[in-house]
Amino acid sequence: MTKQTPSLSFEVFPPNPEVGNAKLLRALENMQELAPHFISVTASNNKYNIKETTVALANHIQNELSIPTIAHLPAIYLSKEKVADTLHELDQVGVHRILALRGDIIPGIEPLKDFRYATDLIEFIKTEAPHFDVIGACYPEGHPDSPNQISDIQNLKKKVDAGCSSLVTQLFFDNERFYDFQDKCILAGIDVPIHAGVMPILNRNQALRLLKTCENVHIPRKFKAILDKYEHDPESLRAAGLAYAVDQIVDLVTQDVAGVHLYTMNNEDVAYHVHHATKALFEHQPKLEVI
Ligand code: FAD
Repeated sequence: MTKQTPSLSFEVFPPNPEVGNAKLLRALENMQELAPHFISVTASNNKYNIKETTVALANHIQNELSIPTIAHLPAIYLSKEKVADTLHELDQVGVHRILALRGDIIPGIEPLKDFRYATDLIEFIKTEAPHFDVIGACYPEGHPDSPNQISDIQNLKKKVDAGCSSLVTQLFFDNERFYDFQDKCILAGIDVPIHAGVMPILNRNQALRLLKTCENVHIPRKFKAILDKYEHDPESLRAAGLAYAVDQIVDLVTQDVAGVHLYTMNNEDVAYHVHHATKALFEHQPKLEVI
């Protein structure tokens, strides 16, 4: 029996209009040389300009750079009409892969009723535009809204049954938690490929933001030591953050992960560094086992 070669893919986000697209377009040209399996483009769930941001960027990546592209679509604040329009816009530019999301509920802003959960969006896409490939998000350490991991995995099973062909995880720093989650998914009958989301930590602000927003993500002692020791030494923090991510990826690939989805933060140096440090592992051809 042979195991599939894992994929390395990247995530980028549409920059703020004040920042502009120029820097990201240059970064993407450099990322193109690394031949990622696909690039996914995030979408904001509190701005309604998805056509000018996510769709436009996905169009560029897919059609100008010839890299398979996934468009994120958080729908909690969208109506069915708006989602149908967005599907049409994606159809027109030939982007037929969607990461279907609920999106975060913003305190003080009442969600619309059309898509309460990602599952509702997946069912809608599969009915309105069945030729789209739909991917779902998952949380190795449980989604913060879930009372426990078991109910979260039961909900994940509903999401996969609604039509997800694969899953991408939230970032995590403890691979053991990911493996435990994978095992539980198998027991729950979730059999689609799970791509592991890895985010290299490059600076103190990013680390502080993460610690605040990802309260459910376990920080292993080894990782906390890096944050503590190099808090005021940006160069060392960056070097150690990248090395930690590479170490995580080496372990994931060695243990036959389906794919690694790298949160690049639009930074081509991150993509370049990780790609070159792990390239051989992603190209490794398993030997045929003679039974
Ligand atoms: P859901 O799958 O709907 O789950 C949300 C909660 O509801 C969970 O607790 C779940 O257990 C529960 N639940 C699900 N289905 C049911 C059901 N049928 N009955 C009862 N409970 C249920 N956000 C953005 O705004 N833009 C992005 O581009 C973006 N990209 C992301 C990419 C990845 C890989 C990940 C992991 C997250 C991303 N997010 C993004 C964040 C995401 O939108 C939030 O985490 C959001 O809070 C949950 O979205 P979801 O699609 O996972 O929700």
